[in-house]
Amino acid sequence: TKFVFDFTEGNRDLKDLLGGKGANLAEMTNLGLPVPPGFTITTEACKVYLETGSEPAPLRDEVSAHLKALEATMGKKLGNATDPLLVSVRSGAKFSMPGMMDTVLNIGLSDSSVKGLVKQSGNERFAWDSYRRLVQMFGKTVLGVEGELFEEALEDVKRAKGTVNDLDLDAADLKGLVKTFKKIVKDHAGRDFPQDPREQLDLAIHAVFDSWNSDRAKLYRRQERIPHDLATAVNVCSMVFGNLGEDSGTGVAFTRDPASGHQGVYGDYLSNAQGEDVVAGIRNTVSLSELEKLDKKSYDELMNIMQTLENHYRDLCDIEFTIERGKLWMLQTRVGKRTAAAAFRIAVQLVDQGLIDLDEALHRVNGSQLAQLMFPRFDEEAKVERIGRGIAASPGAAVGKAVFDSYTAVKWSRSGEKVILVRRETNPDDLDGMIAAQGILTSRGGKTSHAAVVARGMGKTCVCGAEELEVDTKKRRFTTADGRVVEEGDLISIDGSTGKVYLGEVPVVPSPVVEYFEGTLHAGADEEGGLVKAVHRIISHADSVRRLRVRANADNAEDANRARRYGAQGIGLCRTEHMFLGEERRKEVERLILADNDADREAALEVLLPLQKTDFVELFTAMDGLPVTVRLLDPPLHEFLPDITELSVRVALAEARKDPNENDLRLLQAVHRLHEQNPMLGLRGVRLGLVIPGLFAMQVRAIAEAAAERKLAGGDPRAEVMIPLVGTVQELEIVRDEAEKVLAEVQAATGVNLKIALGTMIELPRAAVTAGQIAEAAEFFSFGTNDLTQTVWGFSRDDVEASFFTAYLEKGIFGVSPFETIDRDGVGALVRNAAIEGRKTRPDLKLGVCGEHGGDPDSVHFFHEVGLDYVSCSPFRIPVARLEAGRAAI
Ligand code: ADP
Ligand code: MG
Ligand code: MG
Repeated sequence: TKFVFDFTEGNRDLKDLLGGKGANLAEMTNLGLPVPPGFTITTEACKVYLETGSEPAPLRDEVSAHLKALEATMGKKLGNATDPLLVSVRSGAKFSMPGMMDTVLNIGLSDSSVKGLVKQSGNERFAWDSYRRLVQMFGKTVLGVEGELFEEALEDVKRAKGTVNDLDLDAADLKGLVKTFKKIVKDHAGRDFPQDPREQLDLAIHAVFDSWNSDRAKLYRRQERIPHDLATAVNVCSMVFGNLGEDSGTGVAFTRDPASGHQGVYGDYLSNAQGEDVVAGIRNTVSLSELEKLDKKSYDELMNIMQTLENHYRDLCDIEFTIERGKLWMLQTRVGKRTAAAAFRIAVQLVDQGLIDLDEALHRVNGSQLAQLMFPRFDEEAKVERIGRGIAASPGAAVGKAVFDSYTAVKWSRSGEKVILVRRETNPDDLDGMIAAQGILTSRGGKTSHAAVVARGMGKTCVCGAEELEVDTKKRRFTTADGRVVEEGDLISIDGSTGKVYLGEVPVVPSPVVEYFEGTLHAGADEEGGLVKAVHRIISHADSVRRLRVRANADNAEDANRARRYGAQGIGLCRTEHMFLGEERRKEVERLILADNDADREAALEVLLPLQKTDFVELFTAMDGLPVTVRLLDPPLHEFLPDITELSVRVALAEARKDPNENDLRLLQAVHRLHEQNPMLGLRGVRLGLVIPGLFAMQVRAIAEAAAERKLAGGDPRAEVMIPLVGTVQELEIVRDEAEKVLAEVQAATGVNLKIALGTMIELPRAAVTAGQIAEAAEFFSFGTNDLTQTVWGFSRDDVEASFFTAYLEKGIFGVSPFETIDRDGVGALVRNAAIEGRKTRPDLKLGVCGEHGGDPDSVHFFHEVGLDYVSCSPFRIPVARLEAGRAAI
């Protein structure tokens, strides 16, 4: 295998091998754009290094050969004493991981070559500035020296000079700094800063390899669900210099606004600066229109290139560029991250521009973005106390207690507090705090700052650059422009769509996208710059291409009506246990449970029957013409009885008063009798129907009578009866025989021809494994993937999520909870197999899934793949499921 590719050898399709940065540098090179020459070491080389602890044997020679070729192209030699070639060593994995892995600039500078650079550039200050940056970056990222040590030394020099600006330091100051920095390296890394350029290069390459497994990188991958075994590529790129003076500089730009998606370029530029200066927010940047005034020629060229890139990638691109003495260089591009609203707007704009089709537009948005657009917003009518305003960096309405460091953010959020992380600016060390927080507020930095980029990537609310806020992280507080002090723990609200910051908790209202689904968006209302129209166009397209139908989990008319408005094509799960709650009904259920003779039991069932029937009439009315799957009673009975402790106390008190209550005593006995060690695996589901005579028959009768009533009233009820927790076909057969008898009776009594399908849930491993047999007695399956996940893994959901899931996630045992996204290999394999076996027995077997996975994007794709007919999810998730079912089909 070839481990090194010149920029001229790669292209954008080689991201697996060259990483995103390397693949796109190659793509730009091939487009003829001005990219400084260089080469990329592949992810394969990194994998070998990480697995074996050393480079693959041929790598050294390959690097030497490419370096030689680069030296020939540039007409300079790496680290040469009279005219040195300098390079940057840059990480770049398949997926962009902003700020996750560090870049080292100016490799090749040493005590001798710095003199060559002085001579060649005629700029002594520049040469020493470059050298001090190298020692600093190399010391920190390659040799592991605490970054603060360098920063403090730099601050000291500035303080001694009476300035806060790097630019006020002259060559002599910087030369002194190099000396100090080298001493810091020696003291803290236990070795000298390497003077041999090739050694610098090799050590930097290894450091990039190693950074793949840094804690920060691992955390980010887990958060973003990026696989841990991809490894990173390393780019070695000849240096161009933005720190050569006022006619030089460096910047970042987007071909459209990544926050709103509106057309028009957007960017930040900093003159006389290098590398990360722009995103670090250390000096204030200027906008691109300012650059136009400073350097019209470079600006025009930049605009042309951005247009070329947009047309070429047919998408929003972000870029990093440097101007060296009036010459523009492109240092990076990629399809840029964007907010959810921007994603929808841009996709539709590109369709209108004829650059992509609707399938592609659908492909470019996703369900979690749509879910974000459905989050509530701050109420504009509310009485609010505004205390500041920054840049709207990542939308959302976040409320929480102000905290000023990552550690506190994590600690407080673990104990259930909602927090807003407030920082002057963030850096990669703040990542876990950002994850834990509801939102992020910074006082420095623009839309391209670390906080903004990372928050957008995570879909987290962020306001950055709220400059009038004086953030004091040491004292854990910030001060507003009018001198008001907000301390740690004070409630604040931040609006990532407007950049406004408020004191206290601002109330929220529904988003326009929700109003669109609800049908309450009045004509002429603010369309949010075309956002609602864009959602409408894309989701309509999803509906036209998807094969999976989408149903709702709903058990009352209100939810059913909402589900219909959101586009549900039926109810996939109506839980009847909710119909057994409420004072009056509960009493009858108690009576049913306590009954020790047929007469008592029948009396209770007789009261419950009409109540249940009314519920079903309402539901069938709401869902007229659409299927409604009603699940017979599922939960363990003790859930309907009083709490054992409370009841014991009541009985004990009554006894002490010598006034025992007969009923309470019997109740307590029943509670004891029904108490189970593992209720999840106890007397529930079909087992209830088998041991409590008449219970299921009553429920089936209520369903049948309700359906008959609706039919007689001219309606079109489509009831389906579903038996939960079946493990073997024998259980199902018994219940089925009983149900069929009831249906026949109701049919005879009402004269209505009822077509009510009888089916079962598949939620036990045994049911999944014997699906072929079970299908003999079932007209449909609905996969209950919540219980199936519990029983396949042997996890009790309520217990494991709190106790050890975090540890499992941290150890990478799974990247995401199997309760959130279906475990394809385990639970999913059972689903796939049961679908195949069930259909062998009964080709027209209808297959669906209820349970939370039905509204989870990844899981929806899986259910599409294994050929289910529908997914069912909570009403609010229906748009997400529709969208993802469409995406799965294209
Ligand atoms: P990240 O992945 O964090 O964006 P990069 O590898 O893009 O890291 O490097 C960060 C910055 O360093 C770039 O945006 C650019 O400004 C600067 N840089 C990297 N390589 C070079 C180079 N060869 N010449 C000049 N500047 C460079
Ligand atoms: Mg970059
Ligand atoms: Mg279940």
